[in-house]
Amino acid sequence: MSERARDNTRQSAFDKPSAGSVLAWKRIEWRINTDYNRSMHQYPCVYRCAIQSPLNRLFDYLPPQASTSVLSQARPGMRLWVPFGRRRIVAILLEIAQSSEIAPDKLRTAEQFIDQRPLLDESYFQFFQWVADYYHHPVGDTVFGFLPSLLRKGRNADTTIASTERTWQLSRHGQGLISDNNDRVLKRAPKQSQLLRALLEQGVLTQAELADSGFSASITKTLSDKGLIEPASPSKHRKSDANKSAEVHLQANPEQALAIDAVAAHMDSYRCFLLHGITGSGKTEVYLQLIKRCLQAGKQALVLVPEIGLTPQMLDRFQRRFGGHILALNSGMTDVQRLNAWLTARNGDAHIVIGTRSALLAPLPALGLIIVDEEHDSSYKQQDGLRYSARDLAIKRAQLNDIPVLLGSATPSLESLANATQGKYNLLALTERAGGALPPQINLSDCNEPFAADGLAFTVIDAARRHLKEGAQVLIFINRRGFAPSLLCSQCGWIAKCAACEVRMTAHLMGNQLICHHCEQRELWPKQCPSCQHQPLQTLGSGTQKLEQTLEHHFPDVPVIRVDRDSTQRKGSLHSKLAMAQSGEPCVLLGTQMLAKGHHFPKLSMVAILDADTALYSSDYRGPERMAQTITQVAGRAGRGDRPGEVYVQSQLPNHPLLIQITTDSYAEFANRLLEERSALALPPFSKSAALLGEHRALEELLECMRTLRHNVEQSLATQGLGDVMTVGPVPAPMPRKSNRFRAQMILYSQQPGTLHRYLSSLRTALDKNTPPRGMRLAIDVDPIDTN
Ligand code: ADP
Ligand code: ZN
Ligand code: ZN
Repeated sequence: MSERARDNTRQSAFDKPSAGSVLAWKRIEWRINTDYNRSMHQYPCVYRCAIQSPLNRLFDYLPPQASTSVLSQARPGMRLWVPFGRRRIVAILLEIAQSSEIAPDKLRTAEQFIDQRPLLDESYFQFFQWVADYYHHPVGDTVFGFLPSLLRKGRNADTTIASTERTWQLSRHGQGLISDNNDRVLKRAPKQSQLLRALLEQGVLTQAELADSGFSASITKTLSDKGLIEPASPSKHRKSDANKSAEVHLQANPEQALAIDAVAAHMDSYRCFLLHGITGSGKTEVYLQLIKRCLQAGKQALVLVPEIGLTPQMLDRFQRRFGGHILALNSGMTDVQRLNAWLTARNGDAHIVIGTRSALLAPLPALGLIIVDEEHDSSYKQQDGLRYSARDLAIKRAQLNDIPVLLGSATPSLESLANATQGKYNLLALTERAGGALPPQINLSDCNEPFAADGLAFTVIDAARRHLKEGAQVLIFINRRGFAPSLLCSQCGWIAKCAACEVRMTAHLMGNQLICHHCEQRELWPKQCPSCQHQPLQTLGSGTQKLEQTLEHHFPDVPVIRVDRDSTQRKGSLHSKLAMAQSGEPCVLLGTQMLAKGHHFPKLSMVAILDADTALYSSDYRGPERMAQTITQVAGRAGRGDRPGEVYVQSQLPNHPLLIQITTDSYAEFANRLLEERSALALPPFSKSAALLGEHRALEELLECMRTLRHNVEQSLATQGLGDVMTVGPVPAPMPRKSNRFRAQMILYSQQPGTLHRYLSSLRTALDKNTPPRGMRLAIDVDPIDTN
């Protein structure tokens, strides 16, 4: 283990000698093989079921009272209503057995079947079981977590809801009204105009979908009476794009052709390919042509994109190529939409499913190819509940289905690069920009030189002016939304902090609020200092809202288009902002990571990155990797058309060797150097890691519990002779307090993945058998990405 990992100065609070009672929890049995002989009771038939519960076990029931013909149809994968405590809940039958640990007088009887056939075939449940084992997560929670919420609640799964319900579309009159922005007619009826906008965006919506978004049947009736909306034929639903003529594919360049042929030669068996293509090199074109081959073979394709990567632009591109067989799954969907999408996929009616993390487990009976775009993106890792990595599970799913999986990125993760070097993945490279554009030139600019205003260096302003004058577009990137990251009193030093998280609250202009970006707590922006009554208070630093004002001041002649989570909340606003940028008119685009990847703005020739250097101050060993990824991705937005791109990276430490390397070397060179370092320090990907996360409302209790945990873990590692597993911590988590809970973590590293995995199983068993002290929450995070 590295000195660096061991030398953790933040450990002190945990190292204080314990106040004596370490051992409120001391009876824990921490050995492997906690299996003991229980007496089993024999039965003619027992249903072993998963239910949604934090308990890591299955639950046994007697079959419901039903006719023999119903019972003879029972198969794993069917849902049932079962009694649980005093409630009635949904269970999924996983196994039909002949014995149970539960004695006859305690074993309860299931009430009735919900499904007439299995929801999914058995292979899915085997996969869910594998996932639960790998992440050491309760199996019921894992199985249920991957189902649409309406199925978890017992909704019928035999027909899509949409097809049986009334569907609505805009009438010609309604369309005219809303697309001319003339809906002032409805000024006093905001709900009605919202509904019209929703139909404008979605084309067709069912009554159920409208109800789910809060539109009552009386609103649809009013609008239909006014002649603004009309019933649509159900078959039109979501097939409206089917008739669009499918666009022909581009002529692949030699590198693209090599990549396409390499994957196409292995369409019938598992293999993992890593497509490392610089930004703008035409990775998407490679995806599209491979998907075409997959569809031609009569199979389905699954495309995963990062949370913010599923843009209307990306979807358009797929739709233009393939017409209307595409199912998009995103986080903005209503429960009904989600269920319908899931059922459509399961019934084999969708040829391509494209979606974010959770689309990974979309049921696809004829899956033939998986693509993971921007595979390095951290949004693929779920950060609560079942902490899975959709990228890693995509690879596992491909393995189980014996099909190829293609990971694509301009900045592959070190994990994937290491796997490629070791020959586990096939590396495919696109080293040139498609269409002949040149890679951008990167400049470092010193933030310590005289400042224009609010965090913008003069060199950046001058350069932007030059590019705009020549008719081009400019992108200013800052990963900080809101007006200012801090509000403080210059008199007494008071700083606005979130009471629940102990971090600074961000000042927002909208509603004059202070918002905690970690727990969403909101307060009014105080006029005077709550501590010394001094006024006015000062903001420190800039977020996108403040920069928007600065930029409007400096560039009054062009539109400043701000794209961040706040400015794109209203449905359709992201679309219209991106469309403005796409039009090619000179403008200043200002945005957070929502603008960092995937977008293609041909007229954009200059990019300035304002706060990419924060990793230089971070203690997370992944900091430099992420910094290089962000800088490379954002820089990659520039110069994708005819004009060569120019990139400015603003930093207070422009001479920092890491920054110099990132801006002068290629990503591959930089990544190789980081890999050497990680290898020397035995850090992932050269070791396997897992975090044990603890949370408690009281700091003392948390410390106490984590100390006990460490004590027990160390002892059990020693008794089991697992000297290979190293422990670090407990240390405060990256967010040491969140939503009124203190948080700490302990990290385990091992160079032998198998050992760590076996140890974690024994730990899981021990934790399951020994209820932790009251109020303590403990979780295991396998392959964590947030450690320091
Ligand atoms: P990436 O996904 O690698 O960032 P894209 O697939 O978005 O790159 O391609 C960048 C641009 O190059 C797009 O405008 C695309 O239409 C164009 N392009 C891609 N492949 C080709 C090709 N073979 N010939 C001509 N233009 C291409
Ligand atoms: Zn004060
Ligand atoms: Zn908070």
